[in-house]
Amino acid sequence: MSDNLILQERDTAVNWHPYTQMKTAATIPIVSGRGSYLYDADGKQYIDAISSWWVTLHGHAHPYIAQKVSEQLQTLEQVIFAGFTHPQAIELSERLLALLPEQQEKVFYSDNGSTAVEVAVKMCIQYYANLNIPKSKILAFKNGYHGDTFGAMSISERNTWTAPFREQLFEVIYIEVPDESNMEQVKATIDLHAADVICFIYEPLVQGAGGMLMHEAKHLSALLNHCRAQNILLIQDEIFVGFGRTGTLFAADQLDCAPDLMCFSKGLTGGTMPMGITTASRAIYQAFFSDDKSRSFFHGHSFTANPLACTAALASLDLLLATDTRESIQNICDRHQEFIREFTTDKARVRQCGTILAIEILSEQSSYFNALQPYLYQYFIDRNIIIRPLGNIIYLVPPYCISKADLDYIYATIMELIDKI
Ligand SMILES: *Cc1c(COP(=O)(O)O)cnc(C)c1O
Repeated sequence: MSDNLILQERDTAVNWHPYTQMKTAATIPIVSGRGSYLYDADGKQYIDAISSWWVTLHGHAHPYIAQKVSEQLQTLEQVIFAGFTHPQAIELSERLLALLPEQQEKVFYSDNGSTAVEVAVKMCIQYYANLNIPKSKILAFKNGYHGDTFGAMSISERNTWTAPFREQLFEVIYIEVPDESNMEQVKATIDLHAADVICFIYEPLVQGAGGMLMHEAKHLSALLNHCRAQNILLIQDEIFVGFGRTGTLFAADQLDCAPDLMCFSKGLTGGTMPMGITTASRAIYQAFFSDDKSRSFFHGHSFTANPLACTAALASLDLLLATDTRESIQNICDRHQEFIREFTTDKARVRQCGTILAIEILSEQSSYFNALQPYLYQYFIDRNIIIRPLGNIIYLVPPYCISKADLDYIYATIMELIDKI
């Protein structure tokens, strides 16, 4: 029996995988990674074209990050972050805040994207509670995705994923993503509820899990400024798009309205360790800053600001800000654009935002459960490429170290596929 098969059998006996129907699952055992490649137990090499669920920025097992984390592991691996602090959390907060819109003044650490979102939403709700201003509604985009915990599910698009929990989710006002034609209508919907709205949460520029749906920065900026004028707090969820994915360091760099809170995870540690961050403006922080202990933010996780994760994030930032990486990001953007220019087929539509490229195979209905998905997934796996289509939508979110040759191979494989269907 091959090493792959042995591991697959042991896995099936004990593991339950995320977003997976276990009855039909085929699970590939990966034993090592290097750069943009992953290797299975039988030695087969795969190009990781989706950065292992959008987290890996600089490639797998990056020696610089590994070195830094390994040193930290032998110095301080964990310390309670209530009543204590440590240099890695201080330095990471200082360096991250320096890169964000200047309104962002405080950093709250948690464990992943969903918790970063929970923290932001709870901060907004308690902000108004601490100020004794009664407000109860939350605004969110249609087709949005903000995570899988209950609060995050509530503010995400209601679909098959969330259907069993329908009765337990809180009410949210959904608005369309703005474009040229619907802007006035979207603003009117906001105005209708504005007095009672606590906050608006949105994925800027690209709605990832919703199908790599993209919108223009100028339209989002106009909408955000409209919310701001109505005293609606803005939560910018940069969990997916942050750290270079849209071509700029943050999506915020393309918008002319600064949010009150921001959420980060995924690329934050370069994809090395789980960590979430919620940043907040001074105004938010001030509403909790009090002689009255009941106004504190009573939220925390065991591993808040874990020193190893902070160290990985600092090392990843070093790499991200290096000129080489900036050039690699630009190269991916340019290569994607070339691909789009040469893309002539009426069987698919293509769209791009920075390093994110999406190819929507035209089908009766675009959906996560589109029947094409298993075929598309297997097609790429058979050709040594890890792409995990969202239904009929194929997308690339490559690590920044991906080579030109590998990108060319992926583009060619995509075109070959489109020819066949
Ligand atoms: C992935 C994602 C989340 C949730 O992050 P997890 O770490 O998976 O909990 C939240 N928001 C956006 C935009 C995401 O893409």
